[in-house]
Amino acid sequence: MSELVRPEGSERRFDIVIAGAGPAGLCLAAALENRRLSVALIDRQPLESLCDPAFDGREIALTHASVQSLKNLRIWPGIAADEVSRITDVRVFNGASARCMRIDHLDGGAGELGYLVPNHLIRRAACEAVRRMDHVTLLADTSVSEARWEPAGVRVTLSDRQVLRAPLLVAADSRFSEVRRMAGIPARSRDFGKTMLVCRMEHEKPHGEVASEWFDHGQTLALLPLRGNRSSAVITLPGSEARRLQELDAMDFDIEVERRYGSRMGWMRRTGEVFAYPLVAVLADRFTGPRFALVGDAAVGMHPVTAHGFNLGLRGAVRLAREIDRAAFDRRDIGAPAVLAPYERGHRRATLPLYGATNALVGLYTDERLPARLARQALVRIGDRVRPFKRALASSLTQASAS
Ligand SMILES: Cc1cc2nc3c(=O)[nH]c(=O)nc-3n(C[C@H](O)[C@H](O)[C@H](O)COP(=O)(O)OP(=O)(O)OC[C@H]3O[C@@H](n4cnc5c(N)ncnc54)[C@H](O)[C@@H]3O)c2cc1C
Repeated sequence: MSELVRPEGSERRFDIVIAGAGPAGLCLAAALENRRLSVALIDRQPLESLCDPAFDGREIALTHASVQSLKNLRIWPGIAADEVSRITDVRVFNGASARCMRIDHLDGGAGELGYLVPNHLIRRAACEAVRRMDHVTLLADTSVSEARWEPAGVRVTLSDRQVLRAPLLVAADSRFSEVRRMAGIPARSRDFGKTMLVCRMEHEKPHGEVASEWFDHGQTLALLPLRGNRSSAVITLPGSEARRLQELDAMDFDIEVERRYGSRMGWMRRTGEVFAYPLVAVLADRFTGPRFALVGDAAVGMHPVTAHGFNLGLRGAVRLAREIDRAAFDRRDIGAPAVLAPYERGHRRATLPLYGATNALVGLYTDERLPARLARQALVRIGDRVRPFKRALASSLTQASAS
């Protein structure tokens, strides 16, 4: 891979310009199999932060299909085996009730429902994989200042005054995508008015590799099982309460978190920084335009509660790469609407139901009114009893491929 060549004011030609070298942009570059396609990958972060990102608190729950894709893209071997944790089962509780909906790995016919991998390690391994590819040029420490669509291609001006030309521009620059706005594609966002706090905690009792989620009054809690008696604590609260909790000193924080989790895990002790993520879901009205496509959170930015954001972003990146590769192989114009249309259709079909269902679930489980409380109690009870429903959920996580 070539990187950081920055002749000021010069104009360079590529086949694809990808704005954003986060997990989605990196995976798209890695998924393009046709090595004759030249790719420019742009990110505003410095090269060191892209190649060796710091821990950001996110533990990404990966489905079996995502792990298979990461293997195909040669990203998975870059993640040390002892950094991967297993999720065997999932338990969903309503409030303090001991009754829960259980999703069992046996329902999915696999040894585990999924895996947890720290987000920064996915980024690091994806960056390593892309750096081994000669046809990808990584332009770090710069961003897209302007994109101008012309009949034969897109003219992209970067903040360091470099000018790039390509028949296709892809935005992978987060849910708040500036490049999506440059393309004039509207997006509907939903601000949940809540903040998600995430941090690693040690605890007294074993978690048994079970991921648990409690939809409680005024808070949503989750514990994601890491290796040993450690978990990622995920606490969703109104913004000001989240800030207060985040600012507590270590001992008060541990006491309050143990109390919030109802001492179910015995004592709890924080082992690192607390990270805060304001919760906003975003859905773009279209995923493609003339000589333009959106991938990752720039297309669909999910609420993290159902752990689908990266899984869907990866699936979309692989799908888009497949369409581009096919078109390049047939010597068709890779930016043509006919090439991008199957991605638009397929990714919409894959994401829309999950996006709607996740937002509806969040709405139901954060509504404190009596009818909503009764409805979710019923949902947990019925969900736990209806085996075909649980089997369908479990196999959607354990299937090795998703199209
Ligand atoms: C707390 C939390 C837990 C999560 N848990 C899960 C989970 O368990 N499972 C799951 O599948 N997903 C999960 N997600 C979602 C997942 O983290 C995201 O879907 C994923 O990171 C999105 O990747 P992305 O590359 O699209 O965007 P980002 O990660 O936002 O990366 C965007 C990149 O674009 C760059 N950029 C931004 N603007 C510009 C610009 N103008 N020019 C150049 N570069 C730019 C940024 O520097 C960044 O590198 C979670 C998210 C959160 C917040």
